[in-house]
Amino acid sequence: MARFSEAALTNSRVILVATLTAPPGAAELAALAGRADVLEVRADLTGELDPEWLRGRFPGELLYTLRSRAEGGAAEQSSGRRQEKLTAAAAAYDLVDLEGARDLVPEVLEALPAGRRLISWHGPPATRAELEARLAELGGHQARLYKLVAEARQPGQELAPLAILRSQRRSDLIAFASGQVGAWTRLLAPRLGAPWIFAAAGEVSAAPGQPTLTALRDDFRLPRLDPIERLYGIVGRPVDHSLSPRLHNRLYEQLGLPALYLTFHVEAFGDFWLEVVESGSLRELGFHLAGLSVTAPHKGVALAVAGASSPLAERVGAANTLVVRDGVWEAETTDPEGVLGPLRARRVVLTETETAVLGAGGAGRAAAFALARAGARVRLVNRGRTRGERAAEELGLPFVPLEEFDPGRFGVVVHATPGGLTDEDPLPFDPARLAVEAVVVDLVYRRGEPTPLVRAARAAGHQAIDGREVLLHQAAPQFRLLTGRELPLGEGRRILGLEEPR
Ligand code: NAP
Repeated sequence: MARFSEAALTNSRVILVATLTAPPGAAELAALAGRADVLEVRADLTGELDPEWLRGRFPGELLYTLRSRAEGGAAEQSSGRRQEKLTAAAAAYDLVDLEGARDLVPEVLEALPAGRRLISWHGPPATRAELEARLAELGGHQARLYKLVAEARQPGQELAPLAILRSQRRSDLIAFASGQVGAWTRLLAPRLGAPWIFAAAGEVSAAPGQPTLTALRDDFRLPRLDPIERLYGIVGRPVDHSLSPRLHNRLYEQLGLPALYLTFHVEAFGDFWLEVVESGSLRELGFHLAGLSVTAPHKGVALAVAGASSPLAERVGAANTLVVRDGVWEAETTDPEGVLGPLRARRVVLTETETAVLGAGGAGRAAAFALARAGARVRLVNRGRTRGERAAEELGLPFVPLEEFDPGRFGVVVHATPGGLTDEDPLPFDPARLAVEAVVVDLVYRRGEPTPLVRAARAAGHQAIDGREVLLHQAAPQFRLLTGRELPLGEGRRILGLEEPR
């Protein structure tokens, strides 16, 4: 068993494993060379590939995995056929994944020396004691690496794999929780000594919660493991499209802050709050959670769970920021600044300007509140009457049902529904019907490109503000609250791929 000292807990680098889920082209492999250390062939998904062809194009080690259906994969061969495949792989690959429950038979073990074995277990949610028992079983056979992956279906279940890493302190153990709920544990596991991290080579993940190689490198700064003293993260559903990790983590790097920003996919905020935040389990693992960004649909509950809240968050009825001060979680919203900041940067006059906000969720309400407070004549437009009317009443604003919305009457139109995240979504309104001088603010954003609404509005001759710019402007006060440091806006623009305001 490979144990390591406390000092080794500060490994300075993790091994990046790129997992192939489909046969790759030569160009894809060439692009992986130098970006990943190990190439995993998930033969249950890719079919059998030619290892020599791979070796000619990828300079790192090759790992062969035939994940069985019983352990979450697609392989369902008879045991004899499975053993034949593993034995053949043993002759051609650097490492072979052996499932502890079915592959540790003499024929396979004889073909594969211990130094080339990765012995694994993938299963349902498990306690730390159950994982320790599993590890003891797997450890009965020598291997270069052991891998324990327990699914997490609800908050709290994702902690056991991290706890076993913390208690075992081994340099040959990979452990994390699978599923969306457990996705963040993959990123903390290397901080607790897990020597490898698995990522999708392309866009398609091999398992729920598996990040892409691009996200690991661009958003989470791997493979380097810079020291971290504080943890932050964004809580939402969904969160995997969020650009916040990229923005915050890259800024931490630039400013030399020893911090890491994670994504927490959370179905029920209350459960996450109890099991992960208030339980103290992160502290037991050696991490200090110092603050959170909160996104849809949890902004209302975030306000409710906080021990203190700002008047602004109370007024908007939602919090997008939670920060610990003197042991108390305080709630704030910086969403109003997200909409006002970019308009101010363009010197758009808001006083008495007829303004429409489409969408009465947390983002729409915050935008409507901020614009009204800045002097605009705001109308709240929503598809559903019940929600729209209630929000308008609470904000003291007039309500317009979406089917009666006439874009031509407004000088500023803010779009705050989720429409536009995919190419299939129709435009929320026809930009050709906008008044000549109208400015459009789209809260929706895409990675690396403007949304269809922003493109269409610009093509029709309008100033249009991209959701990434809204993100940047709400992040600026949030960054100050979370870290005590100023967010350099120019650097933020560069990280988000934004041009200068126009
Ligand atoms: P939310 O609370 O889920 O509210 C969604 C709103 O959109 C509701 O009013 C809903 O109307 C409406 N809606 C949903 N689907 C619709 C459709 N197909 N057609 C018309 N209306 C529809 O979401 P949120 O937190 O307010 O966020 C809204 C969007 O803004 C999200 O895409 C979010 O990612 C984005 N956002 C961006 C930033 C940023 O920094 N750029 C910040 C915050 C939010 P009904 O009442 O009829 O269901």
